[in-house]
Amino acid sequence: MLEPLKDISKSGKERPWNEKKQMSLKTASLFEKANLVKKAERMTGCGDILTFKKTSAGLKLNQAFFCKVRLCPMCNWRRSLKLTYENKKIVEVANNRQKLRWLFLTLTVKNCRGDELEDTIKDMMQGYNRLLKYKRVDESIEGWFRALEITKNNEDNTYHPHFHVLIAVKPMYFSRKNKYIPQEEWTSLWQRAMKLDYTPVVHVQAVRAKKTKKNFEEIVADIEKSISEAKAVQKAILEVSKYTVKDTDILTGTEEQKIETVFTLDGAMANKRLVAWGKSLKKIRDELRLAEKENDLIHIESDQNDDVSDEIQKVTAYWHIGLKTYVMKN
Ligand SMILES: [Zn+2]
Repeated sequence: MLEPLKDISKSGKERPWNEKKQMSLKTASLFEKANLVKKAERMTGCGDILTFKKTSAGLKLNQAFFCKVRLCPMCNWRRSLKLTYENKKIVEVANNRQKLRWLFLTLTVKNCRGDELEDTIKDMMQGYNRLLKYKRVDESIEGWFRALEITKNNEDNTYHPHFHVLIAVKPMYFSRKNKYIPQEEWTSLWQRAMKLDYTPVVHVQAVRAKKTKKNFEEIVADIEKSISEAKAVQKAILEVSKYTVKDTDILTGTEEQKIETVFTLDGAMANKRLVAWGKSLKKIRDELRLAEKENDLIHIESDQNDDVSDEIQKVTAYWHIGLKTYVMKN
């Protein structure tokens, strides 16, 4: 009898190893058809064998090979878990240092064709740097995290690259005219930074707690407010820490479209800084030395690294090609 892998997270959810592995194999076959043979081969072997440590808190991944191809669904799942963990850490430290509020900014440009995507992304990276250097912006914000997302529209075969930005501001940002940047101004600043001859779509939103029920005691209300505000910030972190391309965007459309999509995205995303931190958030990231572990997709939470003892029981799961599922090796 083959025992299936069961990896349950702290919150009681089963970790989606099988689903991600299946999607990686599908993506790998698209890579092969797009003539990206070397990457296809690597991706096919991605996460074939997983070694876990058995701990009281459940399984902890200890050893694995991940292909690190930028469009690999398995690797992107790992990257997004890691990014979420990192951003939570960074935001936590930032919030402990000074009273902060958070903004969620989305910067877009018009959809483009596949053959324009790489240049569009390059322009956006430059535009973003220009925007953040404007005195108006620089003096209003404390720190930022920026993530590139690219979605595909299979109806008209266009791509929609856009930035999600999480911004830390001082509470007075909202009350001082010389600090506060209204939506129209963000829009015109982005238009100027991008040198666009049209008005781009820009969204800005304060990360705000949903209103909680009124309480008699103000202190209780205050605590509740700060808890739900923290939750709202967590939600925003999850939102910005998703990886660049949704798995479903690669794996939908006609076969021809899918091949075109992986080929285009693979080229356009090469050698790009898909996520970046700035100002106070970059400083904190540097202090926490998170960049050093950037390529480690095995250990998601850094405190998971310490080996207490080698005596801990290890278990290995391997991908069963026929059953299309992970099974335990005894
Ligand atoms: Zn991979």
